[in-house]
Amino acid sequence: MGTITAADISEAGVVGAGGAGFPTHVKLAGKADTVLINAAECEPLLHKDKEVLRAYVDEVLAGLGIAMRLVGAQRGVVGIKEKYQDVIDLLRSKLPKNMDVAPLRDAYPAGDEFILVYDVLRRVIPPGGIPLAVGAVVMNVETAMNVALASDHPVTEKYLSVAGAVAEPVTLRVPVGVTLAQCVAAAGGPTVPDANYVVGGVMMGYLEENHEALVDKTTGGVIVLPGNHVVVRRRRQDWKQIVRIGRSACDQCSFCTELCPRWLLGHPIEPHRAMRSLEFNLVGEASVVGTQFCCECNLCSLYSCPEDLDPKNVCTQNKRRLAAEKKRWENPPFNPRRPDQHMENRKAPMPRLMTKLGLRQFRNVGPLNDALLPVEKVGIKLKQHIGAPCEPLVRVGDRVSTGQAIGRPPLNNGKPALGASVHASIDGTVTAVENGVVWIETK
Ligand code: SF4
Ligand code: SF4
Repeated sequence: MGTITAADISEAGVVGAGGAGFPTHVKLAGKADTVLINAAECEPLLHKDKEVLRAYVDEVLAGLGIAMRLVGAQRGVVGIKEKYQDVIDLLRSKLPKNMDVAPLRDAYPAGDEFILVYDVLRRVIPPGGIPLAVGAVVMNVETAMNVALASDHPVTEKYLSVAGAVAEPVTLRVPVGVTLAQCVAAAGGPTVPDANYVVGGVMMGYLEENHEALVDKTTGGVIVLPGNHVVVRRRRQDWKQIVRIGRSACDQCSFCTELCPRWLLGHPIEPHRAMRSLEFNLVGEASVVGTQFCCECNLCSLYSCPEDLDPKNVCTQNKRRLAAEKKRWENPPFNPRRPDQHMENRKAPMPRLMTKLGLRQFRNVGPLNDALLPVEKVGIKLKQHIGAPCEPLVRVGDRVSTGQAIGRPPLNNGKPALGASVHASIDGTVTAVENGVVWIETK
């Protein structure tokens, strides 16, 4: 492994593997004093970060070291739940002097990067800001591993947890571009007749009705749940229902605000005010500008509200409307020195969250199966990242091999637009390039 550069990371198509897919070479173009590896993994039933860290600790730490060099950081920290003592011990046996481990409480949302930065560094990212604003860069475990491998392994594989109502909850290693249904089958298949797929996690993920949807570089997990499960029912509530019930049943107790992690950090978001504003607006639009700072963690809707109302969706709808109207709260009130004194006590303990969400019935394990899932067909999305979709480099009938670039970001004034290259994840023939997907089959 030679000295890995930002160009290697770009060419390998590395993006944030645990979130929205921000191109990593762009993130590492900033300057920071600390790089944090986010191994907090606070979504219930997900295990892949801890499993990847245990199996590939050397690669993850190498990726952390590369990121530190590129951003000029003196310190690297791995934030991981204190309950994973075996992984912490393993890390401590390997860490060089300029890296350490930050054990975290088993609470939600420990993995929110604003919370992680505060818990580890006691720095508060300002509302609407990014970790770089306080001298930090945050990377996902798998992203760090992909950085370490960037010189000769483009991103063609994905690790993801498959959990919930499946026969064998597992962490899988799959080629990018397999279907969700193939992953669920590899976990022994559903144990319920009406299987619903929640992708990304029960708190922040989404209900995917298309079971043939494709795994991309950001897919972190699939939770299978029966149709009558509370998490599925809540996802299926329509907006009119949310507004009608919210308007009549919200008693303004403000629990949603008092447990909101961003409000506890001192950000000007008060979901109970957004709920209150529904009373005064016949079309159900909350008119509270602070909703733009909601991180959509769902804690208010799925945990805090005693009436099971949906302040998160009220905030989210409003946030989107404000963005569409190009309304932004410039210089929001914020005192970075004084997060709420009750912050630590108001985090949602994982056992209590699991109980509230009806998840205790499922096995909370995800052992790693490190054998690459064999498949005969993949669909590689040309957009798996924040930025512009890639332009295809291949045509129907072309032979491609694993790791070959098949799409690159378009040029914008002679420079590549924000984005990340995509690569073939199996050897085969291109059978279609349609609707933003390159299909490859092994024939
Ligand atoms: S917690 Fe529920 S009932 Fe209380 S203010 Fe918030 S939305 Fe209303
Ligand atoms: S989803 Fe709710 S708890 Fe989470 S940040 Fe938004 S308002 Fe706060």
